[in-house]
Amino acid sequence: MIIHLAKNISTARAQEFAESIGALCLEQSKQFVLITNHTVKQLPNSLKDLTLQYWTFDTDMQLSSRQYVANTHRINIGDTYIGGDCKNQIMIAGPCAVESREQIEQSCQMLKQQGIRVLRAGCYKPRTSPYTFRGMGEDGLKLLAEMREKYGLLIATEMRDASHADKVIEYTDIIQIGAKSMYDHGLLTAAGHSSKPVILKRGFGTTLQEFVNCADFIMSCGNQQVILCERGIRTFETNTRFTLDLCGVAWLKEHCNLPIILDPSHAMGYAYGIADLARACTAMGIDGLLIETHPTPICAKSDAPQQLDNMQFSKLYQSLQPIAKAIGKNLV
Ligand code: PEP
Ligand code: MN
Repeated sequence: MIIHLAKNISTARAQEFAESIGALCLEQSKQFVLITNHTVKQLPNSLKDLTLQYWTFDTDMQLSSRQYVANTHRINIGDTYIGGDCKNQIMIAGPCAVESREQIEQSCQMLKQQGIRVLRAGCYKPRTSPYTFRGMGEDGLKLLAEMREKYGLLIATEMRDASHADKVIEYTDIIQIGAKSMYDHGLLTAAGHSSKPVILKRGFGTTLQEFVNCADFIMSCGNQQVILCERGIRTFETNTRFTLDLCGVAWLKEHCNLPIILDPSHAMGYAYGIADLARACTAMGIDGLLIETHPTPICAKSDAPQQLDNMQFSKLYQSLQPIAKAIGKNLV
């Protein structure tokens, strides 16, 4: 249950009420909001005279549900935004990982040429093998910060575990929580206490309900700027790396009030399918795309088979324009 308390209640009283019914207490635009789990269906008697409005739910998808807030949350991204009443589809691109000054600089030049605003590159890579490149760590973050200054790009990068959460939050403009750490409560809490937008990637073995519950985790800590990212789930199919769950995206669009971006790169796992998938995603009417690009994909230290070179990305981007236009979306 979500309860909006009457306007004149003090912080101390709101917290007392929250404690008395075992609820979380959030303050949003001078409004105290109490949140219990969804099994509470009756407004407690003690709050009857002090409640402006309340909502009951069938699941713990509460703050992120359209039943609570019907409109998609607006999320500012530099001088533009997604969600809200706009028709923007943000393009986020960049290499899987920051590998060197030269590589990240070439990536930035490529993005600037294409008019892309957000550079996404990992510095702390969650790898499946301990014997592969794990990222440049803080040196990578410093390079990203330099690139932001030099090229005027916004930076998105992954926060992989709590040991470097503060550093990533300090350096980045947009925090990414990756598929392998979707459930990490330390990361969800750190992101929830920050004031920066968060891209939350869906774990590849998780249900939509589990995914949106993690979004609620972040929101229940105070940060409402959550962007959901579908990046492919594991199915019985092994010819592609994962399976992009477009049915899931349709479900999220219907029931969830958060912007949704899609990452066909990690879903497909191979460069050849990504442009087709990006066009299909765009035709669905989504809030953004995340595409892995690399100046020389064959030399990439992680995810080499799926990264697009400058030419491939440029062709993909151009091919999205008429599709976006046909459904009334602007690529930003
Ligand atoms: C990535 O974005 O480079 C990444 C590791 O993706 P995911 O968390 O979706 O596997
Ligand atoms: Mn990657």
